Amino acid sequence: MIIYVDMDGVLADYDKAFAEVKSHQPDVTYPQSLPQFFENLEPIDGAIDAFKELSEKHDVYILTAPSNRNPLSYTEKRLWVENHLGFEATERLIICSNKGLLKGDILIDDNIDGKGQESFEGLVFHFGNETFTHWSKILNKISLVKF
Ligand SMILES: [Mg+2]
Repeated sequence: MIIYVDMDGVLADYDKAFAEVKSHQPDVTYPQSLPQFFENLEPIDGAIDAFKELSEKHDVYILTAPSNRNPLSYTEKRLWVENHLGFEATERLIICSNKGLLKGDILIDDNIDGKGQESFEGLVFHFGNETFTHWSKILNKISLVKF
């Protein structure tokens, strides 16, 4: 199966870093516009192992939209992938503002619309909702999917 994995809120903890900037620098309107914001995001619990496990069985890509508030996001996302998932994984990185343009079977995303998720042709697994509270739930579900 071709599986796309979103980055912010699925592999990398965007919300935690956003909240930390806001608590220390409340005057910053767009924390995501700060240099190294994307590079320094912490991995979501279970995400690194899950990505590696899925990659052993499936054709897995990282599919992330860029931040239009931060042109450095392109470079920093690439660095994050190398730092946390390894150099080989950088060949799996797709930075695209319209996820609906990509062909595939499953998209794992913490948003179900806004960046083309609503027009994705395959299944969309809504990471963080009541069904998929943790990566372990996603892995379990994918193991049951038959095409
Ligand atoms: Mg996201």
